Amino acid sequence: MSILVLADLHEGQLAGATAHVVAAAQAIGGDIDVLVAGEGVQAAAEAAAKLDGVSKVRVADNAVYAHQLAEPMGALLVELADGYTHVLASASTTGKNVLPRLAALKDVSQLSDVIAVDSADTFKRPIYAGNAIATVKSDDALKVITVRSTGFDAVGTSGSATIETVDVVVDNSQSSFVKEELAQSDRPELGGAKVVISGGRGMGNGENFKLLDGIADKLGAAIGASRAAVDAGFVPNDMQVGQTGKIVAPDLYIAVGISGAIQHLAGMKDSKVIVAINKDDEAPIFQVADYGLVGDLFEILPELESKL
Ligand SMILES: Cc1cc2nc3c(=O)[nH]c(=O)nc-3n(C[C@H](O)[C@H](O)[C@H](O)COP(=O)(O)OP(=O)(O)OC[C@H]3O[C@@H](n4cnc5c(N)ncnc54)[C@H](O)[C@@H]3O)c2cc1C
Repeated sequence: MSILVLADLHEGQLAGATAHVVAAAQAIGGDIDVLVAGEGVQAAAEAAAKLDGVSKVRVADNAVYAHQLAEPMGALLVELADGYTHVLASASTTGKNVLPRLAALKDVSQLSDVIAVDSADTFKRPIYAGNAIATVKSDDALKVITVRSTGFDAVGTSGSATIETVDVVVDNSQSSFVKEELAQSDRPELGGAKVVISGGRGMGNGENFKLLDGIADKLGAAIGASRAAVDAGFVPNDMQVGQTGKIVAPDLYIAVGISGAIQHLAGMKDSKVIVAINKDDEAPIFQVADYGLVGDLFEILPELESKL
């Protein structure tokens, strides 16, 4: 078995998700190479070389791969995929954008959102918003897989893989990068944060979300939200946790004024410890919570902050 992992980049640096995808590759077994493709990505390549279990880091450093657009990235992977039995990427925006293109161009099936490896050709993935787990077997010679990073613990960083340059430069006349608008925040990134505190419709309005700030500061937490809070305009949609938002699995997840709809649970129920604050003692969130606090969040949050 020979596996190519597409590295996830965040502002040119290696994103934490890659260490989880390498763990999935280890569960499959075999030689693991990591492809770092982008522009000015030497530091990311060096970070990838330290990931345990990686034999070789392949670096495609060229302006055509800047911003990891699907068209050039897909074409690059088509060039490199021969000789590999598996190509893996995280089920991030980039992975979900690039890998189906590779699968289509190679005329193989795409396996999405894999959360466990049974064997080199058999994988588990959630369906119906995580209410059932499908076991999927692929007979394709090349298996193209996006991995839910929350399903695998990150590998360590004591490796020393070799780094080699990939000279393949594909033509890309199909797409061009126009602009990106990045949310500026001093808080940890929601997808990788160890602690997340999320507010729901129960917060009442956007102003009240400030009640979460002090607690988030004390815990070093990222702030998330339910879709109802996003749809009501309390907070921007990049804060949404759930089936149609971000999937998180932090060490600690605090749900405040969130009822626990199945679509919200789909995004956070794998968190290690779940704390729920809700005034309705029959709210479904208490069925998944390790600790439940029944009461008015407007009283509980200031008290919690002062105790912390
Ligand atoms: C296709 C589809 C995809 C979806 N994707 C997502 C998704 O990704 N993420 C997501 O979150 N939802 C998603 N939803 C929406 C989901 O079904 C729920 O509508 C939503 O999660 C509800 O958000 P909420 O819990 O904040 O609001 P509500 O269900 O209205 O719950 C508010 C809670 O706040 C409590 N509360 C109110 N006031 C207080 C107070 N003062 N103190 C303490 N508690 C209080 C209430 O008791 C209640 O339990 C999706 C729905 C569909 C159909």
